[in-house]
Amino acid sequence: MDRYDVIVVGAGPAGSTCAKACAEKGLKTLMLDKQRLPRDKVCSGMVMGALAQGLIEQEFGFPPQEVLTHPSQLKGYCFHVPGIGLEKIDNLTWLSWRKELDHWMNQKAGESGVDIRDRAEVVGIAQKAGGLAIMVKREGETRELMSTYAIGADGATSVIRKFLFPNLQVRYGQALQEHFEGEIGLDQDYFHWFYPREINPSFFTVHQKDGTIIMEVAGKPGTTKEIMTWAQTFMAEHHALSKAREPVWRGSCLEPALYRELTSRTFRPARGNVLLVGDAAGFIMPVSGEGIGLAVQSALAAAAAVTRSKGTGDPPDGMYLTGIEPILSCFEKTYPWFKKIMEEAKGEGTSLPGILKQAYEGTLSPIDSTE
Ligand SMILES: Cc1cc2nc3c(=O)[nH]c(=O)nc-3n(C[C@H](O)[C@H](O)[C@H](O)COP(=O)(O)OP(=O)(O)OC[C@H]3O[C@@H](n4cnc5c(N)ncnc54)[C@H](O)[C@@H]3O)c2cc1C
Repeated sequence: MDRYDVIVVGAGPAGSTCAKACAEKGLKTLMLDKQRLPRDKVCSGMVMGALAQGLIEQEFGFPPQEVLTHPSQLKGYCFHVPGIGLEKIDNLTWLSWRKELDHWMNQKAGESGVDIRDRAEVVGIAQKAGGLAIMVKREGETRELMSTYAIGADGATSVIRKFLFPNLQVRYGQALQEHFEGEIGLDQDYFHWFYPREINPSFFTVHQKDGTIIMEVAGKPGTTKEIMTWAQTFMAEHHALSKAREPVWRGSCLEPALYRELTSRTFRPARGNVLLVGDAAGFIMPVSGEGIGLAVQSALAAAAAVTRSKGTGDPPDGMYLTGIEPILSCFEKTYPWFKKIMEEAKGEGTSLPGILKQAYEGTLSPIDSTE
């Protein structure tokens, strides 16, 4: 029977980072993904701010040209509050399609000695006398793999999280993304956030890369189609998007909202030798929705905890929970901005552009892991 030191479930940024760091420390590491790799992911593909860029450059190097789009970098972000005003943040941001970015990270993990298997869905995990038994479904057959440690890097609807915390009630937000061919009357060097008060607390975004217009709406599950129709009508009337245009691609996904549970420490994303990282742990930055940098940061904390545990024999969960404290402190500082944004949008809204600018600025600094 195959036996590993570490099995990482999920080959997104969190999975690749954790698997690569574990393999580099000499641990026998397997990374599994249920999809065929390279896989796509509903995401804007921005590597935002010092947090994400600094960590990716440190761990993987600067992304090669083929991983980035045209334009390869954005100058920053615009915040539009229709009828009220506009604010801007200048912040150099790498731009990618997630398929390419994640594939590059997968390859780097492979080069570091990670064994990677795709179309391998984890359907169960159990503690046994000899370690963790991971049930993996591949080509219609379910096999059991043994590992000392398991990392749940399996994204927003994590199966590892469900096994570890079957009673955790997770609230989800939904995102809907549509791609259009052509052009639009917006500066393509900026990412555009629209906060029309008519659709508060939902919002939508528009950006352009490789000649494609990408629109995303975020809202409660079940509401996003209607908001997308509203947003497209708005863009047609105000920013020259043709009303007759049909999307060339459409995708939707869920995002967990676990801020309250994480910051109150009632949800601790680790238990014994099983650690949750990235979206599986709920690490999505309040306000901006940045998740790539937090995926990498939490994955590094998990790899450090596992490596140390391998040496000492102590379970890694305590050290991991200490390692993610700076992320939770950052959430404590940024989460209240949500409320401020919503209150201002419900009221007159005159200060909303300035509040948005301040709130987003607060999400862009590196998180000091020595805090
Ligand atoms: C619309 C939208 C736009 C976004 N834009 C940005 C942005 O511009 N910048 C940014 O930083 N963040 C952005 N985010 C957030 C970002 O996409 C996520 O935070 C990030 O992908 C998290 O990485 P991850 O590795 O934790 O999970 P994922 O990238 O979701 O990877 C999880 C992997 O696990 C695999 N998996 C799931 N279940 C199983 C299983 N049972 N067995 C095996 N494999 C499994 C999946 O196939 C997947 O490949 C955006 C999110 C949304 C919804």
